Parts: sequence; C-alpha cells; structure tokens
Amino acid sequence: MAARKFDNWEPITESDSTIQAALEDASIPSLMVALVHLTGDESIMRGDIRPRSRLLADPQAGVTEEQQAVVRAQAFEILKAYRDGGCQLPPAPNLDQIAEMMNFIIGEPLLEAYAEFLVGELSLHGEDPFGQPGMEQIPQKKKDAFHVLVIGAGMSGILAAHRLKEAGIPCTVIEKNADVGGTWLENTYPGCRVDSPNHTYSYSFVPKNWPQFFSSQKVLLEYFDQCASDFGIRDNIRFNTEVERAEFDEQSQTWNVRIRNADGTIQILNANAIIGAVGQLNRPRRPDIEGRDAFSGPSFHTAQWEHEHDLTGKRIGVIGTGASAFQSVPEIAKQAREVVVFQRTPPWVRPQPIYHDYVSDGKHWLLNHVPYYAKWFRFFMFWRSGEGMLEASKKDPAWPHQTRSVSEYNDRIRANFTKYITSIVGDDPELLQKCIPDYPPGGKRILVDNGTWLKTLRRDNVHLITDPIAKITEAGLVTESGETYEFDVIIYATGFYPSRILWPMEIRGLGGLDLQTHWDGDPHAYKGVSIPQFPNFFCMYGPNTNIVVNTSIIFFSECEMRYILGCIKLLLETDQASMDCKQDVHDTYNEWIDEGNANMAWGAPTVKSWYKNEKGRVTQNWPFTLLKFWQQTKGPDPSDYIFRSRKP
Ligand code: NAP
Repeated sequence: MAARKFDNWEPITESDSTIQAALEDASIPSLMVALVHLTGDESIMRGDIRPRSRLLADPQAGVTEEQQAVVRAQAFEILKAYRDGGCQLPPAPNLDQIAEMMNFIIGEPLLEAYAEFLVGELSLHGEDPFGQPGMEQIPQKKKDAFHVLVIGAGMSGILAAHRLKEAGIPCTVIEKNADVGGTWLENTYPGCRVDSPNHTYSYSFVPKNWPQFFSSQKVLLEYFDQCASDFGIRDNIRFNTEVERAEFDEQSQTWNVRIRNADGTIQILNANAIIGAVGQLNRPRRPDIEGRDAFSGPSFHTAQWEHEHDLTGKRIGVIGTGASAFQSVPEIAKQAREVVVFQRTPPWVRPQPIYHDYVSDGKHWLLNHVPYYAKWFRFFMFWRSGEGMLEASKKDPAWPHQTRSVSEYNDRIRANFTKYITSIVGDDPELLQKCIPDYPPGGKRILVDNGTWLKTLRRDNVHLITDPIAKITEAGLVTESGETYEFDVIIYATGFYPSRILWPMEIRGLGGLDLQTHWDGDPHAYKGVSIPQFPNFFCMYGPNTNIVVNTSIIFFSECEMRYILGCIKLLLETDQASMDCKQDVHDTYNEWIDEGNANMAWGAPTVKSWYKNEKGRVTQNWPFTLLKFWQQTKGPDPSDYIFRSRKP
C-alpha cells in the first residue's frame, strides 16, 4: 500500500492522450469542483451543467452524456495548461466558495455548518479535521506520566494507538488475536468484502489506491496491517493477550487491568485511562436452537470459518440471511452440490452495479494527479452513501402506511428496491414473495447487491426456505412443518451479540460497580464514549454509534478518538486525575438519542434487528447526521464531567 496524503498529488507529466483517456473515467461532479480549485474560475459551477440531488443511484448525478463530453473537453484544456504551467495552483478558495462548491456537488443547499467540516476534510490550510489542537503545548513530562491502555487492535484500536503516539501519550494495546485487523482478521468467510465505498471506508489521513470500490477482506486486512506498521505502533501491542477484568482504583484514580498472557500467565497492568476499542460485532452468536450440538458433521459460524472443510460437492445448510450470508452464499453455491438457506426475515436489497468492479486506471490517475479531485470524490461518496440516505429513513408521522414504509420518500425507495428485486426474480412468484420484506427499507441493514445475491437464489442448487427451524438433528435440520433436511455442513450466519458491548470482560467502576450488571443488556453512554461512574473509561464504537444507511464507521472512530484525545488533554491541562460523566448530562443525551431513533425506520416497533436489545430499545444506532456527530465530538465540555484528583 502506498500511503500518501491526498494533498500529495503527483505532478502531471503525462501525455495529452493519457489525460484524455483518464477523463473518460471521471466522476464529473467531483471533476468540476476540482477544476474550480485548478483555475479559481467559479463560472464552472455557475452554468447549466450541474449535478442533481437525490439521484443517488446515478454515479454522474444526472449530468447527461452530452454535458459530460463538454466538461471533459474543458477539463482537458485546463489540465494541459496546469501541466504546461508547472502544476501551479491559484490561491485556495475561501469559506464562501467552499460552501458554493459543496452545494454544487450535492445539488442542493446544505447547512452552512458543512462548510467548516469540509474545510477540515479538504485540509486547504493543512488542517487535521480529526486532530486535537493544543496537545503539543502540554509538557512531555506530564504526558509521559499518563498511560493509556487500549483494548483491541482492530480498526479503532489501531487509530487510537496512532493518535496517542502522535500526541506523545504512552499506550499499551491488548489484543486477543495473534495479529491486528479485528473484524477483518477474524471474518475470512468466502466473499467477505466491505459494503461501504472504500474511498470513504479508510482513515481520512491514509488514502489508498483501492483496487475496487468495495474491496475484499484480504485487501482491507492488508490496509490495516500496513497502517499498523507505518504508524509504528506494533511494539505497543501485546498479541494473544486478553483483558479479563478492569477495576477502577479510587485511591489512585487509575485502572488496574488483569490480563491473561499468551502463555496463560496473569498480570496486572495499571493505566490512567482505558480505551475500549473492541467493536460491536465481535462475539459470534449461535442461536439456541434445540439440538444445536447434535449435528454430527462440521458446523461453524461465518466469523469463525473453518477453512479445512472442502465444501466442493457438499450439501450445505446456511442459517441466516444478513450481510454475512449475503456475501458468503454466492461463493459457497459455486462449489457445493446443494445449498439450503434458512431465512427468517428477508433483507432489503439495494442495487449497486459497481459492487464488484475494479477501479479503472483512468480513475486511479485522476485520484492521484488532479488536485482535490480525490477529496471531493470522497465527499461525494460520503454524501451519496451516507448523509444523503438518512432522509430516506426518517419517519413522517403523518404517513399512513407505517408498516411498509415510514414516509413518502421511504415508500419510493421501497418501490425502487421492489422493482429491482422483481427484475431479477420476478418470474418466480414464490421466490419473489420470499424476497420482498414486509418492513420499511432501513428497518434492518440494507444490503448492496450487483445482482449476485438474487441470481444465486435462482440457481438450481440453491433453495431459500422460510419455514422456521424447529430443531437440529444428527443429520441436519427439521423445520416446523416437519420437513427434514440432511447436510454435510451447517453454517451459522447468525450474527453477533451487539448489545453486550465489552462483554465478556468484567469492568468495575466506582464502588466496584460491574458494567454488564449496570447496563443489564441496555448499554448507554454519553456521545457513545463516556459512562457515568466509570471514570477515564472511553469507548470507541460504543453504544449508539453505529450507522445504518451506509458510509463509513471509520469516520465515527475518528470523531470518537478526537473527543477522547480532547478528554485526555483536558485532564492534563487541569492536573486532574480522572473525569466522570455527570449522570444527568448522560441521561438527557440518551433521551435525545432515543427520541431520534424512534423517528427512524430502524426504530419502528414492528422491526426486530440487531440494532435493538431484548427490551426493544435501539442500543446500537446513531439516528442523526454524520455532521452532527462530528460537531458533537469536537471536544469535551468540562461542565459535562466531574473531575477528581488522586486521593492523598
Ligand atoms: P445479522 O445481520 O445479525 O444476521 C443474522 C441472520 O441470522 C439474520 O438473517 C437473522 O434473522 C438470522 N438468524 C438469527 N437467529 C436465527 C434463528 N434462530 N433462526 C433463523 N435465523 C436466524 O448478522 P451478519 O450477517 O453477520 O451481519 C451483522 C452485521 O455485520 C451487519 O449488519 C453489518 O453491519 C456487519 N457486516 C458487514 C459486512 C460488510 O460490510 N461487508 C459483512 C458482514 C457483516 P432475523 O433477521 O430474522 O433476525
């Protein structure tokens, strides 16, 4: 992986024909705003050619073929002049101009607040959008005396260690696995790939020449592996080591952490703060189906794939139709004699024609050579796959058809998805009926498809069964109607225990309060990060920080880490030993979150999903815009916390 900053674009030295060829592959909206940077000419975005909002499925956002040709011709002249002039840029645009560029690319006026966010993202003046200014002014001696223990070396833990190191704060990372990568290390099932666009699903400060728009598990693991090496944090990580228990010591206002080393020995580490970066989807769940252990053949969970079993010519039973089944079943079906998929609830499927496509040479060239093109492309993706989708999941209380959809907009999405599903399986009425969910789109995670899933369900060797499973037997499965199925292998694509955040670790806060008992299956935190009575314990990807409509969870981790760094900075600046979130602040915040979630498709009382706990509360999701989370996590407000010093 060539880790480069987006603003380190390469000078253009290539021939006219290379430029022309690359422009054929351009995202026209991203290119047009990049041309404004290159020329300072605002008329480029004030003419008739402009992207249109809400056309989220069209990669060119409604810019016609003819218009695209006009833009390419203009871009060709501008890029040639830029090359021949020694690759000089005019002065950077000001805030008003950025706001205009942003509104142009989105196709509608956005909140002014986005401009500030974008200025950071574009790093026009060297800003670090997720940095914590002022950290460098704290004396190193103070920092050296503040040790942070990070639990987990996945995407969030790697980021945490990097940011701490950058800030000069000592840290130790405890990782239960033998290597970094977390979810991308553990999930090795065939077909595993990211389903958020990679140009947003990457650290903001480590772009990569992603081979595909949605890369495979192997490529993602390589990325995080390389990041850990490039960040120089490997020596901070203790692999094959598990945190068993962490207890807050009120005398010293520090944490005592009991770890089990690779050789089984127990050790107690002391830390001023803990960052829990263990993810929400970390502990695989096999449902409690009667006779679960009776099956005589191999059976395993998608997140614990047993590669030693050759599935060629085998009869396979797959339980579940969530994202993991969705990606693995098409691959299994290519090898197996027969695949029987047991579906309890169908997923909504969203067409994404480029899901398996490779990024063309031309696109790579543009991303690497045209100043600011990659930044705007990232923002364009960020909007189209995330922020722009949120509105479609928002409930309109006046909408009369709340069971099937939550608003008129949501209903239109439903109609589009239904049309797509029908276009592939419509000539098989029984299958079609099984594939159309009866709940609103966005109620559960929407799966992106380029036709692979639906076409797989049509294969002669694949059968989709909706008759509920009654029990597992030595030979296979029996459904409630009494039908028996015999298998060589059973695969559990049955998800995780998301509501048991940080489980099975024993975390004890003030007065020995046990976190899991305290939460009782209903995890709450302030901004997803701080938990009252657990001072200096910070979560990443904690309660209510998951996103449903796509875009990147890495964005959230970067926001959370910025906030956590702000907390550490505050402690060091004020010479306090610990900070503990005020209960009323936490409670008011969570009321706001709950209200927000109740207004979203995933909060609909008729929908069951991993976003909700057993009591029906949405414990996992963030219901507002990404911008709102970015604003919320700029840094801590000292009045939200109780500060304590070390007891004499
Ligand atoms: P999941 O979404 O929780 O899906 C579990 C599936 O198992 C559901 O279809 C569920 O049915 C079914 N199930 C559970 N218990 C069952 C039972 N007793 N009988 C029959 N069916 C049962 O798990 P997942 O597919 O592993 O995905 C979890 C999350 O991980 C995703 O939503 C996503 O956020 C993430 N993920 C991402 C990617 C990616 O980006 N590429 C890939 C995989 C996973 P019900 O729907 O009826 O509960």
